[in-house]
Amino acid sequence: MPAIPVPVIAIEDLMDRYEVLLLDAYGVLVTRDGPLPGAAALVDALNRRGRPWYLLTNGAARLPENAARRYQGFGLAIPAERIITSASLLVPHFRAEGLIGKRCAVLGPADSLRYVELAGGRPVPAGEDFEVLVVCDQSGFPFLDTLDAVISRLFARIDAGLPVPLILPNPDLVYPTGRGFGITSGCIALVIEAALRLRYPNRPDLAFVRLGKPHAAIFEEAARRAGGGDMVMIGDQLETDIRGAAAFGIDSALVAGGVADVGQAAEGGVRPTWLLASLNPG
Ligand SMILES: [Mg+2]
Repeated sequence: MPAIPVPVIAIEDLMDRYEVLLLDAYGVLVTRDGPLPGAAALVDALNRRGRPWYLLTNGAARLPENAARRYQGFGLAIPAERIITSASLLVPHFRAEGLIGKRCAVLGPADSLRYVELAGGRPVPAGEDFEVLVVCDQSGFPFLDTLDAVISRLFARIDAGLPVPLILPNPDLVYPTGRGFGITSGCIALVIEAALRLRYPNRPDLAFVRLGKPHAAIFEEAARRAGGGDMVMIGDQLETDIRGAAAFGIDSALVAGGVADVGQAAEGGVRPTWLLASLNPG
């Protein structure tokens, strides 16, 4: 039986239909190098609308205020309080898991370390003994040397029978760079998990806890901040934005031209509620 096509919707109809708009950042509003077409006009329209909207980003490399400054440099008037990052979920996670005060190896730039500090962790250099591993971002450290040091310390801790919580705020695998695609922290976690599986084949528990989309925590935070209202998630990735929205029980709109191919949208298990052909209002 042929798949039923996903209906196409215009951005202004989406804004009429839903009280709370949740937007992904990379592949929807920006690439690594700048804004995407229509992004500035959409942000202005959302700011004028006087209803809650949030940027739900798996990015864990910038504090909200620094992300806001960067978006503003791209001509996007996104206030810091509209930005919900996956790394901000470290605060409740550290509290719930009893990790406050623990020595943490943190992969990522300076803001990633700051997020861990804000959650109550104590960042230590990757070569030193650590009790918790937090993989936030693929940038900000010498890649191979750091991974080698982390793997060596991990093996030593596990061999000694010690626990080592593994946390992955941003489970994204790839993102659009503007010139093509780049790998993201989710790929680094897969590398570490592959090494762990090889050495400890009977320890399926040695896996990262994933905090960002498609997992529920970031949607729960958005719902909490919005204080109610029908929500729709606008994103470019089926596996994170669209799957996460569906699992959380809200509608979604897939943006054409991102990592997901629109042609794939109606196939496979993940299906957006809508296809959004353009961000440009009118
Ligand atoms: Mg994206």
